[in-house]
Amino acid sequence: MTLPFSTINNRSRSESLYQEALEHIVGGVNSPSRSFKAVGGGAPVFMKRGQGAYFWDVDDNRYIDYLAAYGPVILGHAHPHVTAAICRAAENGTLYGTPTELEIQFARMLKSAIPSLDKVRFVNSGTEAVMTTIRVARAYTGRNKIIKFAGCYHGHSDLVLVAAGSGPSTLGIPDSAGIPTSIAHEVITVPYNDLPALEQALDRWGSEIAAVMVEPIVGNFGMVMPKPGYLEGLCAAARRNGSLVIYDEVITAFRFHYGTTQTYAGLPAGTDLKAIEPDLTALGKIIGGGLPIGAYGGKAEIMSQVAPLGPAYQAGTMAGNPASISAGIACLEALSLPGTYEKLERLGAMLADGLARGAEAHGVPLTINRISGALSTHFCAHPVTDYEEAQDTDGEQFAYFFRLMLDQGVCLAPSKYEAWFLTTEHTEEDVSYTINAAASAFKRLSE
Ligand code: PLP
Repeated sequence: MTLPFSTINNRSRSESLYQEALEHIVGGVNSPSRSFKAVGGGAPVFMKRGQGAYFWDVDDNRYIDYLAAYGPVILGHAHPHVTAAICRAAENGTLYGTPTELEIQFARMLKSAIPSLDKVRFVNSGTEAVMTTIRVARAYTGRNKIIKFAGCYHGHSDLVLVAAGSGPSTLGIPDSAGIPTSIAHEVITVPYNDLPALEQALDRWGSEIAAVMVEPIVGNFGMVMPKPGYLEGLCAAARRNGSLVIYDEVITAFRFHYGTTQTYAGLPAGTDLKAIEPDLTALGKIIGGGLPIGAYGGKAEIMSQVAPLGPAYQAGTMAGNPASISAGIACLEALSLPGTYEKLERLGAMLADGLARGAEAHGVPLTINRISGALSTHFCAHPVTDYEEAQDTDGEQFAYFFRLMLDQGVCLAPSKYEAWFLTTEHTEEDVSYTINAAASAFKRLSE
């Protein structure tokens, strides 16, 4: 096959911009995951334009994009429907500081796709959405502690940047400087997909637990499905204890189908969808169509804790701004068109099969976890169902693979834990090219 991309051997402008960025922007990047620290260091690639499934760097090299901006860009870059909505919003003024009719329209759209939302509030990021669900849960239950799961990422607010203590029933330890131990002690971290560990933590700390916070399908140590019965067990255990269940669907909402995990037919066979309904849900990423957004919502009785109705304060100058809301509406409109998710499923299967075949042909141990158009590649021979298993994979091999793919014009996230995201704009030809590029990368890895 003729390769549409030549091997990339010049990134000199990225390298010089990186040196300049280091002088002015801390670490040269505005989010640490954009640095190449986890893949051997050096200059990250500076992009200047995105269109559909591709973006171009400042040295005019073209890449097939599987980063999708860490997930939001499910329609590809500069999707015409979303771009038109953003332009219309810009022409009418991007920020009023007043309510708008658009916000109601968007809240209705979210509610009709996510049955557990009686009431919604828009914020500006996934971090804010998660942070506020915890506040609301604490206000509603009058309790302070939360349980979260090892390896799940919920943004960078204090409470969720906490790692496990030395056992499942110990208090957390701060995962970042600047987080007081007293705050980390409000968090208990247990392994995902391990119901007894959760039950043990609830036995030990039950009366203090306001909420169990989970990525119901994990997207942050690769893509990991809940084991059969796990979400039912998690919700039942939390409810028995009088704790709320918070789903962080910042990655998963509208990713696999038009909705969230709680209505997803692709969950393990026999999943009782009614039994896995959360009390509160945090949203972000895709629902902003590529502009900054977050949202949270849940049962009316719980959401009535939020100001101005109730005592839990949450506010935002930029919240619900017409540009983000318009982009979000347009994005969901495009996603709701027939065939969207079927295409993501088809291309996802093609990509995963091709990668698996390439790795096998060259004797490279590779576990692929795929859910629809999102997949993760773990350089190991064992399954990956929790964080420990995801950690026990070959990071050096991933780093080498990442660089070999980048040099062939395929852009992945620079971390072994991050997913590959297909967009509606990828084509079979893009996927074939990627599979061939990966085969030659696997060959190099095996030499
Ligand atoms: N929750 C999950 C599951 C995420 O993956 C992320 C970001 O990657 C967040 C929350 C935080 O979202 P944001 O980066 O928009 O603050």
